Amino acid sequence: MSAITHQMIALLTAFWLLTIYPLSAGIIIGALSIVAVMIGALTPDLDQPTANIWRRLLGGRALGNIFQFFSGGHRHVTHSLIGIILIGYLLHQGITTFINPAFVPSMLVLWRAFMIGYISHPIADTITDRGVPWFWPLHINIKIPPGPEELRVTTDSIVETLLVRGAVIISFILLLISHWPALLLLFR
Ligand SMILES: [Zn+2]
Repeated sequence: MSAITHQMIALLTAFWLLTIYPLSAGIIIGALSIVAVMIGALTPDLDQPTANIWRRLLGGRALGNIFQFFSGGHRHVTHSLIGIILIGYLLHQGITTFINPAFVPSMLVLWRAFMIGYISHPIADTITDRGVPWFWPLHINIKIPPGPEELRVTTDSIVETLLVRGAVIISFILLLISHWPALLLLFR
């Protein structure tokens, strides 16, 4: 699934969660948490040396190859339950250990936003043709729906750019119409 679709799905997920668990974070943390959701949505694919962020970084291809070497290649540890728990734990520990206690509550809001974006990524990839190795290091790719790969979404296909993104946009608009105070509350 492409980076744009991943960010759209992540933002929809985050907004949907806001309607269930309303949160008031203030204008700055509210805006930064939206950025954190999008960064979280892109992070699992950093194990591809061709990932956009590596291509734009000076010496990025070499760094991307190193990252890929340690993560075991595309869609392995970064897309697994172990990977999610590990990155969530390390970031949480980093915040509570190294950040000035006065800023920890705000940083934990951003941590939650990042993790929502991050977790939405492998969930979305599960409906793509190759599936996701949720139980890595076991080499089982979980796919929904199961069966031949023609039944699932191919990255950058018409189905993804038109149907998946279209469904996300329509859901977002419907959610916005019915729950816009929940989104506004985030910035208060
Ligand atoms: Zn992915």
